[in-house]
Amino acid sequence: MNFDSLGLAAPILEAIAAAGYTEPTAVQAQAVPEALAGRDLMVSSQTGSGKTAAFMLPALQLLTVPHALAGNGPRVLVLTPTRELSMQVTRATETYGRNLRRIKTVSIVGGMPYPVQNKLLRMGVDILVATPGRLLDQMNSGRVDLSRLQLLVLDEADRMLDMGFSEDLEAIVSKTPASRQTMLFSATMEPAIVRLASAMLKDPVRISVDSQQAPHLNIEQRLHFADDMGHKNRLLDHVLRDAEMKQAIVFTSTKRAADDLAQSLLQSGFSAGALHGDMKQSQRSRTLQSLRSGGLRVLVATDVAARGIDVQGISHVINYDLPRQAEDYVHRIGRTGRAGRQGIAISFVGLRDRNVVRTIERFTAQPIPVSVVPGLEPRPRSASAPARPSDRPTSVRRHSSPDAPGRLRGSVFSNTASGVIVFA
Ligand code: AMP
Repeated sequence: MNFDSLGLAAPILEAIAAAGYTEPTAVQAQAVPEALAGRDLMVSSQTGSGKTAAFMLPALQLLTVPHALAGNGPRVLVLTPTRELSMQVTRATETYGRNLRRIKTVSIVGGMPYPVQNKLLRMGVDILVATPGRLLDQMNSGRVDLSRLQLLVLDEADRMLDMGFSEDLEAIVSKTPASRQTMLFSATMEPAIVRLASAMLKDPVRISVDSQQAPHLNIEQRLHFADDMGHKNRLLDHVLRDAEMKQAIVFTSTKRAADDLAQSLLQSGFSAGALHGDMKQSQRSRTLQSLRSGGLRVLVATDVAARGIDVQGISHVINYDLPRQAEDYVHRIGRTGRAGRQGIAISFVGLRDRNVVRTIERFTAQPIPVSVVPGLEPRPRSASAPARPSDRPTSVRRHSSPDAPGRLRGSVFSNTASGVIVFA
């Protein structure tokens, strides 16, 4: 199938071609024609499946026809759980809408100065991309009028519910016209999502493309048992010096750990930076921009980055700490292998993490093969009782690096009693 058969206007097709897309992804092929026919959609699709274009292409098509009502309120509203995802959706709008004149896209997210947002809103909006909390603030101050709204998109609805936005969503939706078209995208279709959908969608077309649990076939997953933090650091150093490593996201479980690790990596000569929820929006944007431009090679992040970061150069995702939820594992590793590329996802697993591994493996229905780096093997007790139903590793692979061991010796990490990482 090619894009020409989907029923999209010529300027949109030209923008798609300019983006280098030759054929629609599965979710686009199924969702776009139904959306163009005006149907409500309830879509479960895997992260990285091309879902943004699946709703944004029909949204842009809608804007090629003038609205019957005058006014400067948005015609399309996309709600996202995080600022990063809002920014990504806004960028996608610019990519796909580049040949359409006079389309104004505004992003309203927390952390952005109110005066800037107020000014943008006064100037008029066609597509509003927002996180629910800040949008509701702006609505309550009378700065957003949703009476002209034609299309509402709930992107990553499961995450919005997880983040406690349920009431905000209801309040926002209650201010939109009943005549609107609604599209809900979610990685999972758990009961809470189905309830949300039945309250907000009218006779939706259900589309399911690759369940959340579907394997990321283009992502090679590996597991390294790690004795302690010092061992994790030596493994990390090894992975980051691998010739295959282009850019990496390293996930930690706390903001403090992300800052400390980024700092340590910087001192060790890596171009590294941190990203987490305590940073100012301007700092977060600068860091992401630097990642996208390739200036930053290693991003150390908390789960704030597990969704919404779409950088095609990310060759490796490293779970320095495992996520608390199996679902977050899927989102994290989905940061690599973008747009059909190959990716590598590596998890460092300590003694106490075995149950988490078991939960992840059940959730994805995929075992994570155990890897061993010669010279960096775990102490026997770490590897002797891996967390698998079969109670033994599915496979053990040995990875050597052209750099080892000489370079490793130059940057051995050690772990101080205070928990701060330093380089020996
Ligand atoms: P998404 O799931 O919307 O975050 O998209 C994941 C990645 O796929 C992004 O880098 C998009 O630019 C890319 N993408 C979306 N649609 C296509 C397509 N039809 N062909 C190739 N790449 C695509």
